[in-house]
Amino acid sequence: MIDIPPSTLSPIGVIESDYPDKFGIPRQPGLAPAARASLILVPPFDDPLAVRGLEDFSHLWLTFLFHLSPDRCASRHWAPLVRPPRLGGNARVGVFASRSTHRPNRLGLSLVELVEIDTRRGVRLVLRDVDLVSGTPVLDIKPYLPWAEAHPQARAGFAPEAPPLLPVAFSTGAAATLAERPDGDSLGELITQVLAQDPRPAYRRGAETRIYGVRLRDVDVRFQAAATDNGTRIEVVEIVAV
Ligand code: SAM
Repeated sequence: MIDIPPSTLSPIGVIESDYPDKFGIPRQPGLAPAARASLILVPPFDDPLAVRGLEDFSHLWLTFLFHLSPDRCASRHWAPLVRPPRLGGNARVGVFASRSTHRPNRLGLSLVELVEIDTRRGVRLVLRDVDLVSGTPVLDIKPYLPWAEAHPQARAGFAPEAPPLLPVAFSTGAAATLAERPDGDSLGELITQVLAQDPRPAYRRGAETRIYGVRLRDVDVRFQAAATDNGTRIEVVEIVAV
C-alpha cells in the first residue's frame, strides 16, 4: 500500500452569492446567469499581485469545498454509489461517475465567468454563472483555456445535455412584491431561471400540491408545481422577505 500522508488545505477565499441556502441552486454553473456572486480572497491570499493578469481571462475554474456536505472521509462512511437527480433519484452510479456533492474529500469544480476584478480593498472577483452557496470556501482559481479544455463533442454519460426547463408563472401577489423592489427585474429573472430547473427532489416530481420554499437573495420564494395540458408548470405563490 502507498503511504500518502494526509494534507490540509487552506481556503484562499469565500463565495458571496445570491444563494443563502443550497436547496434550489442549479446543479451546474451557467444555468442561472442572473445570480450575482463574488469570490472574496482572504488573507494572506488577498494580495492584488496574486491576480495580476487574470483580467485577460473570461472564465475561471474554481476548486472548492462542499462544506455543507458531510465529511465522508473523516467519518469513514463514504459510499461508492450515489443517486444522481438526473436519473430520477433511484438509479445509482459510482461516485466518481457523478458530480455529486457527497464524495470523498468534498472537492467541487465549477467553470464560472469572470466579470470584474475589484482590488480597491483586498481582492474581490465578481463572477457570473456560479452554482455555489454563499459561504463556500474556495481552495484555488485557475484560468480556463478553451483550446485545451473545451470538448463540445465529448460523451457525457447520463447527462448528455442541459436539463429541460419548465415554464414559470407568478401569482398577482408575487408579481406585486417584485414590482415594489428596486431589484425586482433581476430578482424576477433569477427566480424564473432557478425555478425553471424544477428544484423539487427528483422522486417528488409527479403531481403534488405541496408548497416548497427556495431562498434567493433576501427572500423566501414559495412555489408549487401545477399540471397543465402541456405538462408541468411552476407557479410562484408568494415572495416573502426573510
Ligand atoms: N459544479 C460543481 C461540481 O461539479 O463539482 C458543483 C456541482 S453540485 C451537483 C451543485 C450543487 O451543489 C448545487 O445545486 C447545490 O445544491 C450544492 N452546493 C453548492 N454549494 C455547496 C456547498 N458549499 N456545500 C454543499 N453543497 C453545495
